[in-house]
Amino acid sequence: MGHFSLAEILHNSNYLVCLTGREMIVEDGIDSMRDMKTAYEIELKYGYSPEEVFSAQFFSTRSEQFYEFYREEVLAQEKEPGKAYYALAALEEMGILKCIITRQLFNLDKRAGCQNVYNLHGNIYDNNHCPRCGRIYSIDYMKKGKVPLCEKCGVPIHPGVTLLGEMVEIGLTTRAADEVSKADTLLILGSDMRTEMVQQFMKYFHGDKVVLIHGTPHYADKEADYCLYGKITDILASALKELCEKVEDQQILCNSHQG
Ligand SMILES: [Zn+2]
Repeated sequence: MGHFSLAEILHNSNYLVCLTGREMIVEDGIDSMRDMKTAYEIELKYGYSPEEVFSAQFFSTRSEQFYEFYREEVLAQEKEPGKAYYALAALEEMGILKCIITRQLFNLDKRAGCQNVYNLHGNIYDNNHCPRCGRIYSIDYMKKGKVPLCEKCGVPIHPGVTLLGEMVEIGLTTRAADEVSKADTLLILGSDMRTEMVQQFMKYFHGDKVVLIHGTPHYADKEADYCLYGKITDILASALKELCEKVEDQQILCNSHQG
């Protein structure tokens, strides 16, 4: 792989698509349910694995337990987006980043200003809906009471996130796959190459550069063309700084040519 500049790669990309994984939210202080320790603690506390509780079946048969879990393990983790998401928003604004594909439930990218986001598993803010009449409820409403009920129908409101055992909206996945197929550069943040999401979208990638940034080396890293290890926030921030200098230089160059 040798030495390379992330800023240079980003600068030279024609169609950059970004996949964000688990470590992105962990850097912002959100516990991931896949974390072994967290999973164990959850099993002790609820008597079920996170996968069992966070499922469509649990939601419909044991809504009270489901909502205890949803409030204490999901909604309680609401955090402000970190600098990495603001860096992505800046890249999008510069016209470099075309879109973000993610499964994180906290809308961190959009709250940091990213516009073009494919949030495959929904999020905790939008689309909290009554499964019967479709009425939409705010996140504040979702935090109230043991089980938030539809004011009209009296049935438990379905949170705006996809639960295990539910289908991800096919149209959304198709549009995200279409973006990946147009990309010449794929930026994978906070995930290894073997996660389900990365594997799913790699099938559609026909570009020539896969750039992987995550915390620790993984045996499948060789499947990426470029790897960087460390804090995603720091790596993106320094690349963005270098990139801004580059763009500024070019603008000066352009201006002097015109003058
Ligand atoms: Zn209703």
